[in-house]
Amino acid sequence: MQFVSQHFINGRFVDSHGQDTIDIHNPATGELIGRSTLGDAVDAERAIAAAKAAFPAWSTTSLDERRQYLQRIADALTERMDDLVAMTVAEYGAPAFFAGYIDGQARDFFVLVQDLLKPETFEETNGNATITKVPVGVAGLLTPWNGNPWFVCGKTASALAAGCTVVIKPSELSPLEAQILMECFEKAALPPGVINVVIGPGATVGNAITRSPDVQKISFTGSTRIGKQINHDATETMKRVTLELGGKSPTIVLDDADMEHAIGFALGAGLMNTGQACIAGTRILVPESRFDEAKTAIKAGVEALKIGDQIQPMVSAGHYERVQGYIRKGIEEGAEVLVGGEGKPAGFEAGNYVKPTVFTNVTNDMTIAQEEIFGPVLSVITYRDDDEAVAIANDVEYGLHAYVYGQDQERARKVANRILAGRVMINQIVDDPTSPFGGFKMSGFGREFGIHGLQAYLETRTVYAS
Ligand code: NAD
Repeated sequence: MQFVSQHFINGRFVDSHGQDTIDIHNPATGELIGRSTLGDAVDAERAIAAAKAAFPAWSTTSLDERRQYLQRIADALTERMDDLVAMTVAEYGAPAFFAGYIDGQARDFFVLVQDLLKPETFEETNGNATITKVPVGVAGLLTPWNGNPWFVCGKTASALAAGCTVVIKPSELSPLEAQILMECFEKAALPPGVINVVIGPGATVGNAITRSPDVQKISFTGSTRIGKQINHDATETMKRVTLELGGKSPTIVLDDADMEHAIGFALGAGLMNTGQACIAGTRILVPESRFDEAKTAIKAGVEALKIGDQIQPMVSAGHYERVQGYIRKGIEEGAEVLVGGEGKPAGFEAGNYVKPTVFTNVTNDMTIAQEEIFGPVLSVITYRDDDEAVAIANDVEYGLHAYVYGQDQERARKVANRILAGRVMINQIVDDPTSPFGGFKMSGFGREFGIHGLQAYLETRTVYAS
């Protein structure tokens, strides 16, 4: 059992002003593994004041200095990587390989961003105009629980590289992972106030950050519901806002696909991180003419999955119940359970495990086809031709991600180019932290990663001189 009772403010660990607590249970076993004290608005204000005071000096550091500090954070994370991965598995139930991957990449963000620290990133000319890019100010970074270190580090690396100081509010469901990150930030010993972390609820700590006149930028990853609220709250002080929100991504299986491979791919995309991924391909679109083949492959594929290995628990008992509600809703609305269904898989009753569930006989207007479930619940929808596949793919409020699978690359690319989503993958599931990532429509706005991610923390000033 671990206790987290301090925040990281102005370069050191400080006791929390807020005194509420939250218990953390291992989602796989239900065991109580930690208790965290939750900060409040006073803690947030202390962190914002520290970040504000640190901004003038940090924003004028040389690119070389910034590079050295970023590398120190990467080195500190490397030293603690095993602890971080173990905690990502224990605290939110990520599969070990996935935890290793995302936490490794969390560290890599601090290395990759150093390549962008070139003079041309911050200055260009256009005739008589000199265009300089200056750090926007204090950045408030708000993250979700599904891969918390990855989000914290991705945002922090870009913000610090741009010359911003930061106030981080990790998900209150991830305090044990956040504790390790705070220890790494302490070890890296950046100037006091450059990095501040406050653990606490969104409604108090998050809200104090999004409303503060001393915070100029918000980068938020989380649900569309909270993203709307944050955008609203940030308007009064005209903050620059990046919103990475929910998704309901389609996987379009084209009619020339090798069905067995295509379904393996679609299940991989749909059940990644047990569906607790914003980019999960939770709607599988298959050609009507090959529906029977697809059904057989899906049933076999899902039945072969190893619970506790490829399928992990939901992050909390509350989230388990929410996912069960969607399975019931799908049945009520007339969809057919091809595999899975309500309840826990046999032998896994102690944890928050959901049976991987695939619905057929789904129409795109059903709740399970429209709303983000964030669990291992997939919908199979049939289409007649490519035009209809694209229309169904785009007929959701979200636009974060999509997948296309087919043999004819040219045709697959044409289909991909018609999908209203910020990222589309053809015949592959890759992660590229150097190309822009972000959503269309209700999946948010702004882009993260690479130069686009860095630019989100910069303001543009044009100076004319003869
Ligand atoms: P959430 O929206 O409930 O919470 C996200 C963060 O916002 C948490 O830190 C929370 O404390 C904070 N928050 C809540 N209310 C707030 C308020 N009023 N003001 C400021 N902050 C507030 O999301 P979650 O349940 O933690 O994560 C799951 C969601 O995140 C899913 O919808 C998923 O699709 C989305 N997500 C999106 C991406 C992406 O890159 N687009 C990536 C991962 C997760």
